Amino acid sequence: MSSPSDEELQDALVQLKAAHPGLGIPKLHARLRADFPAWTVSEKRMRKILTALSPKAIVSPSPSSQLVDGLDITQWTTRVDVRMFDKKKGKGLVATQKIKAGETIWVEDPFIIAPEWEIYDKQRAGAACSLCTTLFASPLEAKARCPLCPAVFCNALCRKRSEKTHPLLCAAQNPASMPLLRWVRSREWMALLALIQCTARLLLANAAGEEALAADWAVVRGFAVLGMEERARYSFRSEPDRETWKAAFELFCATFHRPRREDGAMKNQTAEEKKVAAILRKPLPAEIEAALFDYNTGFLHGLGRMNLNLESHGGLYTLHAHLNHGCTPNASVRHLDQRRALARITVRALADIEPGQELFITYVNPELGYADRRAGLEAWGFVCQCARCMEEGRDWKPPEHQDGLGDLASELKAGLGVI
Ligand SMILES: [Zn+2]
Ligand SMILES: [Zn+2]
Ligand SMILES: [Zn+2]
Repeated sequence: MSSPSDEELQDALVQLKAAHPGLGIPKLHARLRADFPAWTVSEKRMRKILTALSPKAIVSPSPSSQLVDGLDITQWTTRVDVRMFDKKKGKGLVATQKIKAGETIWVEDPFIIAPEWEIYDKQRAGAACSLCTTLFASPLEAKARCPLCPAVFCNALCRKRSEKTHPLLCAAQNPASMPLLRWVRSREWMALLALIQCTARLLLANAAGEEALAADWAVVRGFAVLGMEERARYSFRSEPDRETWKAAFELFCATFHRPRREDGAMKNQTAEEKKVAAILRKPLPAEIEAALFDYNTGFLHGLGRMNLNLESHGGLYTLHAHLNHGCTPNASVRHLDQRRALARITVRALADIEPGQELFITYVNPELGYADRRAGLEAWGFVCQCARCMEEGRDWKPPEHQDGLGDLASELKAGLGVI
């Protein structure tokens, strides 16, 4: 008889859980004993490992974050490099040289932007740039506009850049997007808005050619993912329910998936609408088609991807999405250029960072106590293992389990401090 290391036990439990997703702790313990007869593991120890494990690791044992193929990060900075840590942790950024507190590490424009609703409304009203979200003190500040719809832009450059997404979300070019956009606004569902933006970008990249599509798809699939089902299972936050997911998917498909060719209304299409219809008709590679339009393995995962990676003001940033959380962050993200490029982020060092050290930002208010940080991080599907959490969480105990909640999900919820 031998006692496995925490690491060995963790791996065995992840595999067992994947093979038998419905088992509660006592049955899982019995299975473990049957599969590993040489091990002595108490139920208490197993429970402890399980509650400390990230639900992401349990639900999806395959890597949930992957490197972005062919990503050249020198377009932003040479001061950091991407590193793939282990399977559970995924990727992160490490310093390649000494960075001093207060220094700017890089500046980045968003891959797509799903702004806060107040700003979204201003964009719709022509009071903010439809691309970079910069607010206009007067309508005269908008130096460019979409010739077909009310969208306005800072200048010709912002309008040009908007061609990666706007045509499919333009009231004149793709009128079918209007019900979807009105709906997402009424629900204030930012992850869906981000997914809409990403989808528009991918479909337009597909129209532009293989190379453009490969580059954009590599970025999207590189964003870490926690599926909506997994998220719902481990979270008690009030989020859209399954019926709402379905309704969203229908509108989403009506906007992006296969225009109705036999529809009599097609005859009255404007030249612009015809152009968009042709873009939507162009077949996608099977992998991307499924990732966008298969409900379970595509759409819901896509929403989960957006949830995990949105910056706090609502943009998706390719390099920024590589930053991991730490409760003692050594880097921060700011929107400094409010007059000319509100969506642009500047990543700055909060402390001296040595070569080889990882960069951390914080996903929750770092002034919170251990239990509140732990509960706050639940939305990202992991339990923080930073030095500070190890120290402050040493004597922390999950709240007592309630009667009748025997399954693993409830155990985990208890472990995450949300009941
Ligand atoms: Zn702009
Ligand atoms: Zn337009
Ligand atoms: Zn922590």
